[in-house]
Order: sequence, then C-alpha cells, then structure tokens
Amino acid sequence: MDEFDVCVIGGGMAGASVAFHLAPHARVLLLEREPHVGYHSTGRSAALYSPQYGSLLIRRLTAATGPFLNAPPPGFAAMPLLTPRGFMTIGTNAERGTLDELHALAQATRSPLLPLSAEEARARVPILRAGSFDWAALDTNAMDMDVDVMLQGFLRGSRGHGAKVATGEEVLSLERQATYWHVRTTSLELRAAVVVNASGAWADEVAARASIAPLGLVPYRRTAFNFDVPTGNDLSGWPMIIDAGERFYFKPDAGRLLGSLAEESASVACDSQPDDLDVAIAVDRIEQVIDFPIRRIVRAWSGLRTFSADRDPVSGFESTASGFYWHAAIGGYGIQTSAALGEYAAARILDRPMPATLLEQGLTPTELDAGRLR
Ligand SMILES: Cc1cc2nc3c(=O)[nH]c(=O)nc-3n(C[C@H](O)[C@H](O)[C@H](O)COP(=O)(O)OP(=O)(O)OC[C@H]3O[C@@H](n4cnc5c(N)ncnc54)[C@H](O)[C@@H]3O)c2cc1C
Repeated sequence: MDEFDVCVIGGGMAGASVAFHLAPHARVLLLEREPHVGYHSTGRSAALYSPQYGSLLIRRLTAATGPFLNAPPPGFAAMPLLTPRGFMTIGTNAERGTLDELHALAQATRSPLLPLSAEEARARVPILRAGSFDWAALDTNAMDMDVDVMLQGFLRGSRGHGAKVATGEEVLSLERQATYWHVRTTSLELRAAVVVNASGAWADEVAARASIAPLGLVPYRRTAFNFDVPTGNDLSGWPMIIDAGERFYFKPDAGRLLGSLAEESASVACDSQPDDLDVAIAVDRIEQVIDFPIRRIVRAWSGLRTFSADRDPVSGFESTASGFYWHAAIGGYGIQTSAALGEYAAARILDRPMPATLLEQGLTPTELDAGRLR
C-alpha cells in the first residue's frame, strides 16, 4: 500500500495551494474526484482579486496573497497572474451609509478608495445610465486573476517536488489507525499521516466519512452569465461594477460582460446549475443602470460558495481526531486568498513558524481554527 505524509482531498484552488506549499517538505498525494481539477467552484469564479472585498480577516488573507500573485516563484507561470481591473461600487443618495463604511474599511486596511461623482464614473464606463446612481467609489487595487494559470502553477510546482495528483479518485472512507489514516478511494488504498480536507462544498461530508462531526458549513449557489455590449465599446479597461446593496455586479470578461445577481441561495453540495429566474432578475437589475437592453445571454453557469457560521475560513487541525486538517469554508474568496491560506496550512501541518506575510497581517491561528465553530 502506498504511503504518504499528507493526502490532500480536493483538486480545487485550496487543495492545489496546500499541496504546492507542502510538496518541497513532504510526500504529498492530491486526490480529486472529478476527471479534471478545478471542475467545481474554482472553475466558475469571477476571477477578481480585491483586497477590499470580504470580512476583515479575508482582506488580510487577500493582502497576504498579493505578493505571491505579483511575483510568483520562478517557473510558476509564463504570464502575469494579475492584470489591472478596478472595483467600482455605485450607489444612490439613500445608500451614502455604504460609502462611509467603504471609506472606514479602506482606512482600516490602508487600501486606496477613490471617490468619484456619477459623471466621473460614467466617463470611465460610458454604458452606465445617467441618473441611475449618485456616487461611485473605485478600489484601484482590484485585479483580474488568471485562475487556470494559478491552478496549473500550483499543481505543476507540486509535481515538480514529487507530489502525485490523481483525478477521478473520490475519497470514499477514512479510517484512523495507529499513526496514520487509511484512505480508500474509487480505485486506491493508501496510508497518510495527515489528511487535508480541501473538498470545498463537500467538506462536512468528507469529515463524516472520517467519522468526524460536521462544522455546519453551508454551500450557497451563485449564478453568473455572459452578455455582449453594443459594438463600438472598448470595455477592456472598465472596472468591475457592483451596486452598494450587492444586488448585482458585472465586469469585463474576454470581450464580453460577466454579470451576476450576487445571490446566496443555500444549496446541497452538488454540480451546481444556474437558475433561469436568478439570471432574469440579474438582467433586470443590471438593465436599470446601463443604457442598453441585454438581448441575449451567451452562457450561464453557477458555482457554490461555502461558508461557515461566522463567514470566515477554516484552516486547522480537528481536535477530536489526530492528523485531520480542515481547509475549507473559503466562501467567495478562495482564489484571492489561495496563496496565503495554502502557505499557512502547510506551516501548521509541518509545525513551522507563521509565514512572514501573515505575521505582517497580525494573523493568529485561533482566527482560523475549526474549534471556534463547535
Ligand atoms: C460565481 C462565483 C464567483 C466567484 N468569484 C470569486 C472571485 O472573484 N474571487 C475569488 O477569490 N473567489 C471567487 N469565488 C469563490 C471561489 O471560486 C471559491 O472560494 C474557491 O474556488 C474554493 O476553492 P476550493 O478548492 O475550496 O473548492 P472547489 O474548487 O470546489 O474544490 C473542491 C474539490 O474537492 C473535490 N472533492 C469533493 N469531495 C471529494 C472527495 N470525496 N474525494 C475527492 N475529491 C473531492 C471536488 O470535486 C472539488 O473539485 C467565486 C465563486 C463563484 C461560485
């Protein structure tokens, strides 16, 4: 039977980053149930890196991921992982309170936030409809991420250090024996001293297969779709636009716009499918702030964003079973926090000091521990 130091369960961005950071120091196996890595949430994201999006903890993890994405290790990627995008919130006079909150959060995280009048916002994004909003605020640090290049970079780097990646292998059972876990998958049996539960929406289900109580993680569906803008618009430099109430957003995406209702519909863990009604509501809301009708949806999809009760991620050992490491509940931020969270998990698993980028953010392990959710 094959033996590993660490078996990572889940071939999304979370598992790939942990494997990447562990591989130089340990014998690592990554198992993915689907025939391809990145099939679920990771392959369905809006690919935005925004240090001003999410809870304060998410913002710190995002900031700590920035240096890696700006300057990845040699050989990680043949192209930049980040390209400038910008993230513009628009609101009405009745929503001025949100603008104050955005300023306060930007100050707390020492991030730039450029206030714009509605006219200035329309000068940047001419399709915005006059009179449909009163103010805008632009996070100039927001970037587009190349999600596939990141995922492949983490996996290539892992393999380069001897890690094995097996797709089409669902973890069916996990049994703790003496000093290791006995892992049974679709076609393999193996031993690993540590298992990392990076199975996204299935994290509680995978824990149950190890006879570990759930953390109460809930997957929420979010829908996205592409539509065209009228010819003659150069949308390449437009920022992502989100309304102050987070009732919709849209952003340039390979020559089209990617729109979303920004909804959170509780779901079971599954191969998430878009809901036509969610698409229709999003189209209606977006049409209220743009000056053309959306005539055709080119493609619609949805994915799951999995949250804990306090909406912050979990990365830490399970206290009731040795060698079981939770790495999940990364909600809508799993790409933009991936490098820092993966490095953090590897440090915990290898019993190494807190990585410098996270020390700078004042991170303490209790903030991410599973115990806080029990
Ligand atoms: C519409 C949408 C927009 C988003 N936009 C952004 C964004 O702009 N920026 C951002 O940072 N994040 C965004 N996100 C969130 C981001 O996509 C997720 O946080 C991230 O992909 C989570 O990664 P993961 O590896 O935890 O999960 P996943 O990518 O779902 O990976 C988990 C993997 O585990 C596998 N698995 C499950 N059970 C087993 C088992 N028993 N055995 C083996 N394998 C198993 C699954 O098949 C799956 O591939 C968005 C999400 C959605 C849906």
